[in-house]
Amino acid sequence: MKLAGRVSQVTPSLTLAIDAKAKAMKRDGIDVCSFSAGEPDFDTPDHIKQAAVDALKQGKTRYGPAAGEPLLREAIAHKLQTENQLSYAPENIIVTNGGKHSLYNLMMAMIDPGDEVIIPAPYWVSYPEMVKLAGGVPVIVKTTAETGYKITPEQLRQAITDKTQLFILNSPSNPTGMVYTPDEIRAIAQVIVEKNIYVVSDEIYERLLYDGAEHLSIGAVSPEAFERTIISHGFAKAYSMTGWRVGYLAGNLDLIKAVTKIQGHSTSNVCTFAQYGAIAAYEGSQDCVEKMRQAFAERRQVMFDGVTAIPKLTCVKPDGAFYLFINISQLGMTSLEFCDGLLTEQKVAGIPGIAFDADDHIRFSYATDMNTIERGLDRLAAFVKSKI
Ligand SMILES: *Cc1c(COP(=O)(O)O)cnc(C)c1O
Repeated sequence: MKLAGRVSQVTPSLTLAIDAKAKAMKRDGIDVCSFSAGEPDFDTPDHIKQAAVDALKQGKTRYGPAAGEPLLREAIAHKLQTENQLSYAPENIIVTNGGKHSLYNLMMAMIDPGDEVIIPAPYWVSYPEMVKLAGGVPVIVKTTAETGYKITPEQLRQAITDKTQLFILNSPSNPTGMVYTPDEIRAIAQVIVEKNIYVVSDEIYERLLYDGAEHLSIGAVSPEAFERTIISHGFAKAYSMTGWRVGYLAGNLDLIKAVTKIQGHSTSNVCTFAQYGAIAAYEGSQDCVEKMRQAFAERRQVMFDGVTAIPKLTCVKPDGAFYLFINISQLGMTSLEFCDGLLTEQKVAGIPGIAFDADDHIRFSYATDMNTIERGLDRLAAFVKSKI
């Protein structure tokens, strides 16, 4: 069968593939310690589930507006105003099928063939692929542990050409767990304004911060930065709602109208009763988020201490999200060899850094229980020992 050219330009999601392999081994009764998942291990909090159940019972089972339930768009606008100092009206917000879909829709609405999109590496796997699906050109800027895997304002300035449309900023970061400090955000904002490009700020891990790290949304830096900022966000990570598929995009009215047009001809509205769960997530008590954050904070410490105690592995301590980004370069293996060997020999699943354009690293998610973490660390240590 003849397939469209755009398909062959795109690589399948390696993170999903490894996770699937680990899950299949588990189904076969093999005791796998999995650190591959990019999702919290907690169940969705009860009051959020209940709100969706109530909505179902009340007959919220029909088509809704393509841009989302008005009540949810209001709740999002309120959250962005009070927590992030971002003044968006509900009309500036479109509810999407997760944060992934909001970014995909953004590329479809903003990127013409040949347009360049700047992406710091290590990056979330889907960014470059989405840019390519839209016909755009991903411009990858490599970062290192020395800058905490963060792009510097100089690097950003140098990567900008007259074809640059967009810069993708992700803080806290998947896969590195790094958080840009407010000063670093201000310095990046200055370049965005000076060079007059747009920035999409993927803030999906905003609530998962440790050791007093602060999140500043780049749109809150100045009115000039606000004009050039698009926010991509969602409920999946902070509220343990990955399967619900609710996210959103906030930006200027022209953009949101364009994305609504695209969504109106593709997915239409996000599952109506799922949106009522999302309303409860934003309007209800935030204690559930804090409880999960504290659990992640504890696991992070155990994982970091465990990994850095293993000879030949190094790791910058993350201050956000739920990932440890581990440097394996002293072992002289590719990240795929490392992860394949680790899964086969020790039944431990991690994600090879090549998926994020960092072949000398692996990503371990600590969104898993403490027992798995402790057993997994022992196995990881045994694996590394057998290779040196
Ligand atoms: C998980 C994730 C998303 C979006 O997830 P959804 O489930 O689609 O809401 C977006 N960006 C990053 C960096 C992520 O890790």
